[in-house]
Amino acid sequence: MSKPEPRPGMVEPNEARCPRCGKRYAYRSVKEHKPFPFCSVRCRDVDLGNWLTEKYVVPGPAPKPEESFEDESDD
Ligand SMILES: [Zn+2]
Repeated sequence: MSKPEPRPGMVEPNEARCPRCGKRYAYRSVKEHKPFPFCSVRCRDVDLGNWLTEKYVVPGPAPKPEESFEDESDD
């Protein structure tokens, strides 16, 4: 058995594309690259922020103003 073992510390960088800004970046491991799959924390925060904002603003039926039936008679 002469299988070449991967040397520790010799992790080939993976390449990914930031879904936020589209920038290609290299990372060694997902564990090390915290903002994965984004290129940076900034991109992640921006995306997360947008997501939260969108979720926060739930498009719902606007509260109808009370229909005041004008039934004033000229008296
Ligand atoms: Zn990015």
